[in-house]
Amino acid sequence: MASPTTTDAPTSSPASLKAFKIVIVGGGIAGLALAHMLEGAKSGKRGSNLLITVYEQRAEDTSFVKYPLQLSEDARTALKSILSVQEYNNLVAASDYGITHGGVSIHTPQLTRLYSDKATGDDQPNRNHALPQFTHRWVLKDILKQGVNLVRGKRVVRTRHEAASEGTEVHAGKIRVVFDDGSHELADLVVGADGVGSVIRAQLSPSSDAARFPLLPYVVLQFKLAAPFESLAHILPDMNGINQFVGTKSTSLTLVPLHSAEGSSPLPAMTPRAALIQSEQGPFAEADASVLAVKKALEDPKAGYIFAKAIIPCPSGWEDFTEGAWIDKILEILRSEGYANEIVTAVEDDLIPGTLGAWGIVSSGVGKSAPWTEHAGGRMVFIGDAMHAIPPIGGHGCAAALRDAAELADTILYSSEAGGRGTKIESLLPSFQKEMIIRSETYLKEVTQQLNAIMASGINAYVKRGVWGAMDLYAPIAGWMSGLTR
Ligand SMILES: Cc1cc2nc3c(=O)[nH]c(=O)nc-3n(C[C@H](O)[C@H](O)[C@H](O)COP(=O)(O)OP(=O)(O)OC[C@H]3O[C@@H](n4cnc5c(N)ncnc54)[C@H](O)[C@@H]3O)c2cc1C
Repeated sequence: MASPTTTDAPTSSPASLKAFKIVIVGGGIAGLALAHMLEGAKSGKRGSNLLITVYEQRAEDTSFVKYPLQLSEDARTALKSILSVQEYNNLVAASDYGITHGGVSIHTPQLTRLYSDKATGDDQPNRNHALPQFTHRWVLKDILKQGVNLVRGKRVVRTRHEAASEGTEVHAGKIRVVFDDGSHELADLVVGADGVGSVIRAQLSPSSDAARFPLLPYVVLQFKLAAPFESLAHILPDMNGINQFVGTKSTSLTLVPLHSAEGSSPLPAMTPRAALIQSEQGPFAEADASVLAVKKALEDPKAGYIFAKAIIPCPSGWEDFTEGAWIDKILEILRSEGYANEIVTAVEDDLIPGTLGAWGIVSSGVGKSAPWTEHAGGRMVFIGDAMHAIPPIGGHGCAAALRDAAELADTILYSSEAGGRGTKIESLLPSFQKEMIIRSETYLKEVTQQLNAIMASGINAYVKRGVWGAMDLYAPIAGWMSGLTR
């Protein structure tokens, strides 16, 4: 856990402080990061009266944790304040996939380069090459869980401020948290970190848009390819960065060659078309020996493979297709959008069975990055996706969630209840929320622009791709100019 800072030294001695109970709803990245940072502060004698519990509805993580997670520069900066130096180094060591180019290379489906901010390479003074640019969700969560009181398999169904007239003197001002098993407990502060479908957010304003974030007409597909990197060198123009292909109409495919880290062997060879063959054999088909060997190798977090992320139009949003049906759909789109045969063949032959997942994309929408602009909840506050849904492009979702967690931890530690120099927590939360809205609005604007550019079709696509081409021409000049001014 991060070593405590010396600013905001406690004003009350820990012994004179009353226990202050914090319930965090949701053991995702935001909830765990907040709990981890608060527990870490205790070793520096800050917030030692805080009793923090994270309630996670799922008894076990879903397979979602097995996907890579892009960590933007902002996410990495936030992690440095949440984790101790040792923990951050452990994260880097477990996530060294050789992605050292912090930008993106954009290509047409026929592999013509439109833009790459690698063009000026190390000449770019502001380019942060720091690691880790990718990790795996479970690797990060395992580190964040350390030292945290996490109760799994308990779903929060309701929260309620206790009114003075309802409760005893002790209960007044507290929040009652009710669980799905009928049990309940009282908290001094409740943090909703329960993701895009937050029940608590919906409960606070059941009749407004806040209850549900809008679904965009796109689906994001993630899967893993087992092809040896050398054989795909011609379709991976950037071997140590993010390769993005934008279709002629409206689709995008991103390929990231995650190199196996030191001490891990490359994936064994896999039967071509294994995923399609398995899906044709029906839901109870047995994987063949080559697939089992690849899956076994993937259990090593340091194993390398090609990570693929596609965004495709889906007017009705996510649908409950089988893996085989999604593969057919993506192959059809890639072919109709003129992707090079080598790319189509890589998806067809090398997709590792059981690794394809599909998600509808939700977005709070620019200008609506918070369900309410004024702090609504008294001693309740929301962080991460529960507050703002940012489409999964460019690694901004986790950056926002981690920054919310770090800022809220600082706000809590600054409050008089935790022995800090500030006033009571409920009077600090409105300005915390204001800052959070400004941050998430910036991310939302950036992601929405990127999404519009990627998914543009017709004349818009022509213009936007022309702009990328022009930017690419301009990049070496910009690099040369920045070199002159340094
Ligand atoms: C396909 C996809 C790919 C993405 N890729 C990236 C990426 O590469 N980089 C990036 O930065 N971002 C990415 N994102 C976005 C990122 O995953 C989110 O922004 C981030 O996980 C938000 O964290 P969170 O803790 O707020 O929410 P979540 O991670 O959703 O966690 C919420 C937790 O709360 C639990 N919960 C929900 N309701 C209750 C309840 N009532 N009681 C108890 N527990 C409850 C849930 O089970 C869950 O564990 C991606 C998103 C998707 C969908």
